[in-house]
Amino acid sequence: MKTIKVNVVTPDGPVYESDVEMVSTKAKSGELGILPGHIPLVAPLEIGSVRLKKGGNTEIIAVSGGFLEVRPDTVTVLAQAAEKASDIDVERAKRAKERAEKRLRAQQQENIDFKRAELALRRAINRLAVSEKK
Ligand code: ATP
Repeated sequence: MKTIKVNVVTPDGPVYESDVEMVSTKAKSGELGILPGHIPLVAPLEIGSVRLKKGGNTEIIAVSGGFLEVRPDTVTVLAQAAEKASDIDVERAKRAKERAEKRLRAQQQENIDFKRAELALRRAINRLAVSEKK
């Protein structure tokens, strides 16, 4: 089975590095499925998950947006934050979700803090969803 090397990198360091059979994720332009030999591509990512298929298993990583770079034999995901499903602290994500929801109830729309709270809420919901799939 052909494989492609995947690196998931954040400002805190590498989060994942392995050779996988397929990478799937949601870019801003839509769902992407990347197999070895894919044409070169750079795509901005949504807050969401990167799924890595390897030997009958799928590892799931939560990413807080960022960029995906595809070269024929490598995929690099560069994200502000990324966590393997098994590394997600569920209680922390629940607390972050509650804090964000409280701020959103208190804020007016179009306010900068509203947008910030909305993004924090999306990150927390994403972490909770990814941790459930581990
Ligand atoms: P919080 O308010 O809990 O910090 P956040 O969404 O503001 O959540 P980020 O700024 O996205 O957090 O991430 C800061 C760092 O903390 C990153 O290294 C990220 O991987 C890590 N992190 C955030 N939330 C979690 C979590 N629930 N479990 C594990 N690591 C987390």
